[in-house]
Amino acid sequence: MRGSMLKIKEACCKRMWIEIDKFKKKEISPKYGTYLSTIWYEEQTRTYHLLSMKFPDCCGGIPIAFCPFCGAKLPPPLDPEDTIMKEYGEDYVRYNFEPEYKSLPKKIRKEFDTDKWWKKRGL
Ligand SMILES: [Zn+2]
Repeated sequence: MRGSMLKIKEACCKRMWIEIDKFKKKEISPKYGTYLSTIWYEEQTRTYHLLSMKFPDCCGGIPIAFCPFCGAKLPPPLDPEDTIMKEYGEDYVRYNFEPEYKSLPKKIRKEFDTDKWWKKRGL
């Protein structure tokens, strides 16, 4: 799970931002020992996730399209690989003839680890 860098003015509503912030801080209910929030934001893919228990000892997330608090339609998630493919070619994102993942040069990779890449391109 990656952290979130969502700014309050970028959130659809204050409640959503608070929930995301609580999750990011891993705030736990003192009474029940559970997370106080079940929503997290992945800046790299602009995805809002709803926490879901998929296995007894592991949790995952389901991407959501609407805010459960204000009902706003959330921006569609983005796949950094689509942009990397377009700008740097398929060698960097797909398996080639040999089953070896070819990683991007560190300098380029860094940009795609945050929300910088899609903000810069106005996506
Ligand atoms: Zn909202």
